[in-house]
Amino acid sequence: MAKSQITKNIKNMISEVHKRFIRYAKIDTQSNPESSDCPSTKKQLDLAKQVVSELNGMGLEDVSMDENGYVMASLPSNSDKEIPTIGFIAHLDTAPDFSGKSVKPQIVENYDGKDIVLNEELNIILSPDDFSELLKYKGQDLITTNGTTLLGADDKAGVAEIITAVEYLCNNPEIEHGTIKVAFTPDEEIGRGANLFDVDKFGADFAYTIDGGEIGELEYENFNASIAKIKINGRNVHPGTAKNQMINSITIAMELQAMLPVNERPEYTENYEGFYLLFDIKGSVETTEMTYIIRDHDLKKYKQKNKLMKRVVKFLNKKYGKNTVELKIENQYYNMKEKIEPVIHIVETAEKAMLAVGVEPVKKPIRGGTDGARLSFMGLPTPNIFTGGHNFHGKFEYIPIQSMQKAVEVILKIIELSR
Ligand SMILES: [Zn+2]
Repeated sequence: MAKSQITKNIKNMISEVHKRFIRYAKIDTQSNPESSDCPSTKKQLDLAKQVVSELNGMGLEDVSMDENGYVMASLPSNSDKEIPTIGFIAHLDTAPDFSGKSVKPQIVENYDGKDIVLNEELNIILSPDDFSELLKYKGQDLITTNGTTLLGADDKAGVAEIITAVEYLCNNPEIEHGTIKVAFTPDEEIGRGANLFDVDKFGADFAYTIDGGEIGELEYENFNASIAKIKINGRNVHPGTAKNQMINSITIAMELQAMLPVNERPEYTENYEGFYLLFDIKGSVETTEMTYIIRDHDLKKYKQKNKLMKRVVKFLNKKYGKNTVELKIENQYYNMKEKIEPVIHIVETAEKAMLAVGVEPVKKPIRGGTDGARLSFMGLPTPNIFTGGHNFHGKFEYIPIQSMQKAVEVILKIIELSR
């Protein structure tokens, strides 16, 4: 086929990616941290089944959905060459933070750079005064919410982009490629997307999650993360006779918080700066419970932070008596950088792919975790690539159609560059 014709075909098929996305966005797949089941909500299976039927329809092989709602499929190699098996992964669920029910995506064609009225009745406006990045998309076509739900571009845009890319390859069998694996997982938003991911069954040499934000994002560094649960045992006595008797656990909690570095709180940190976040506290004189999350990209600093927490608790126990403060620290995930660096070519390939399709790569450390981080430690190195979306997890979420199209082109280009 003539090159110009391939280009034209790409344009036609890829220009449909937003239609696929809108279909998926209308299916409610909100996950639920309160449930211990997998998937945490049955409704995630509605999208999983839809995806399975589409993958089957395209002629992919080994299309499966396991009992936990993980969907996997394979597009076999059509080449005699030794080409690594590449995986692409996105998640089916949307964040519990905001409603994902009855999502009504709206398309703003040829955006004029002005305020976008999401909902006239409720006076909800998406404005470049609040979100200045909007101005970068002047002249492009945006998909927004109607102001009452999230959009779910996180991560249904990723799902739609991956499927559109493999559909393109299915329809253009003359394009040479190695084996491509795709997977769609439940419960990423509640931190469990990697829990039951069968890395052996997936069988990829490396993978990419398509779960980032704005166009160009390419991420392979994330926090090291732990959670610290603290219980402070006080002694409640009648305040009238409390002298030298009462131990107020709330006061000790305040003392504990004050002993941690003030400048190492999320509201004072950015880029590679780690933090302690007290995100939950419940207390009475008798008992106070505190929950902290501790974060740092640097493993050494991360360990120091955990150590300082232990030293603070030790000090308080010395001051107020043994077992006054109980501490349990658990690791949540580690920085994937250590697992990606030995195969840094997979990041470089993604960078080259972006440049080749006219996207400027934006490499930055994730101030959080991804399923890819967990998968990387399970033996599947998995950096993260943009979906194109903005303002995830809320009513101001939006995604430019042109960014979605670029994401599909990046996926196809990675496949092309890897052969
Ligand atoms: Zn996501």
